[in-house]
Amino acid sequence: MKQSKLFIPTLKETPADAESASHQFLVRGGFIRQIAAGIYSYLPLGNKVLQKIETIIREEMNNTGAQELLMPAIQPAELWHESGRWNVYGPELMRLKDRHGRDFALGATHEELITSLIRDELNSYKKLPMTLYQIQTKYRDEKRPRFGLLRGREFIMKDAYSFHTSQEDLDQTYKDIYDAYTRIFDRCGLKYRAVIADSGAIGGKDTHEFQALAAIGEDTIAYSDESSYAANLEMAEVIFQENKQSGTPDTLQVMDQFFEGDPERKLKLVGFKSDDQNILVLACNDDEINEVKVKNFLKLRTIETLENSELENYDIQQLPEDVTLLSDQSVKNVVNGYLYNASNKSTYVNINVERDFPEIHCVDLRVIKEGDLSPDHKGKIKFARGIEIGQVFKLGEVYSKSMGASFLDEQGKSKPIIMGCYGIGVSRTLSAVVEQYHDDKGLCWPVALAPFHIHVIPVNVKNNDQLSLATLLHEQLSAKGWDVLIDDRQERAGVKFADSDLIGCPIRITVGKKASEGIVEVKIRQSGEQLELQVESLEQFIY
Ligand code: ATP
Ligand code: MG
Ligand code: MG
Ligand code: MG
Repeated sequence: MKQSKLFIPTLKETPADAESASHQFLVRGGFIRQIAAGIYSYLPLGNKVLQKIETIIREEMNNTGAQELLMPAIQPAELWHESGRWNVYGPELMRLKDRHGRDFALGATHEELITSLIRDELNSYKKLPMTLYQIQTKYRDEKRPRFGLLRGREFIMKDAYSFHTSQEDLDQTYKDIYDAYTRIFDRCGLKYRAVIADSGAIGGKDTHEFQALAAIGEDTIAYSDESSYAANLEMAEVIFQENKQSGTPDTLQVMDQFFEGDPERKLKLVGFKSDDQNILVLACNDDEINEVKVKNFLKLRTIETLENSELENYDIQQLPEDVTLLSDQSVKNVVNGYLYNASNKSTYVNINVERDFPEIHCVDLRVIKEGDLSPDHKGKIKFARGIEIGQVFKLGEVYSKSMGASFLDEQGKSKPIIMGCYGIGVSRTLSAVVEQYHDDKGLCWPVALAPFHIHVIPVNVKNNDQLSLATLLHEQLSAKGWDVLIDDRQERAGVKFADSDLIGCPIRITVGKKASEGIVEVKIRQSGEQLELQVESLEQFIY
């Protein structure tokens, strides 16, 4: 492709509002442009990378037997009333009315829509299991859209939904899709970890998040290099003695049992509230753990502010001085809690449950510190920042029950369909890759996602030797299947190199003064390694 004909509006200056490296370089490299807060256009280069990510996702999802469909972004409010989420989802759901005054939502997610779609169709065990997915635009009116594509208000998601006759069948698909996610993120070149997570407002049981490691990440994960232990800190800190008689179960066990929702176990975590640095965890006892969990998450997420004066009731003054309190910690129904202090990486109990809430059984919270032994005693716990690039959920019967999606089993008995759902932030993955693949000059794309593999730069296009050799290389390498960009613009060498560093193709071939001798300079973008080569040996080098 000829650069002179392409729309690649690079910028010399860093946009003032761009806080993260991915935001800065995607704008400066001419990949995206902001239209409004959290709303972006993908320019040709950005779109090309997106399509490469989507291709990887499609290949791996199709390999699991999932089928692609495409649902509308506009969803009737009635469906959200049926699931009960119209009133609890909050201001993140973008709502609109049509000319007749009917309410609609712009899809933040598609559980309601897909459940309504399949409920009349997948009505027999013979038609199950089934997994459907789409790659589509989602809308969430985020409180703080930021970091470019990382937290948008309009963004691209791959969302998949699976339908089953049994829990075991769901478990199998969950594992298959979990495995597909590891292949997807491996192919994208990401450094990431799959962590045990919290199922939040969406409801349901088991869930894992895929967290790309990056300093800018908004989540904190706890993990150990020597074991498979990895959890979102929101969950990792739920280390508590559930029952004095049974001793202290280790973290992982507690979490497993928590997720299994064993009704025998009375004390469970029911919610949390977090911001960048501090986390408040709540726990209480209840027999119907799944019910409580969902109910309280919903409640928690809609609760507004608890004033500092109210916090004083909870012995907060006794906390060590270096603990920063959130100004908006809130909980009318506080039952237990503690604060996480990011600066010294420890937690403090702050709330006296037995005294303040005598009717509620007390739960001990233990402090988890960086360097502690992991729950399975293999290796030490470390903390890292992560970007949530994907999440898999076992939804169970939450939506099929509320929305009436059932099937007839072999005995002709009607049962609710068991569901799973699986998301990947496609546009967020793009920017997470950039967070991991850049230097101070610009992007350094991994080969699998690069908009072009090779950037051929004739230094002076007015020089015939240079232009004709560069054109020849462009043709030959393209014919071999490489995606090649040729900078045929009449620009100064400095401008071309700066743009080339910004755009970040893995290989740059500079055709300069030695073109007449058939010698070019090859530079590897990521390592900075460079050498002069005879054109004849180029192919050998590139393969
Ligand atoms: P977050 O915790 O970052 O707000 P989420 O848990 O609300 O994300 P999910 O409902 O799990 O998001 O959606 C599936 C995936 O969609 C996420 O794992 C993430 O990669 C992506 N995603 C969610 N919100 C956004 C957003 N505002 N901008 C870009 N991608 C997003
Ligand atoms: Mg969110
Ligand atoms: Mg999340
Ligand atoms: Mg999530």
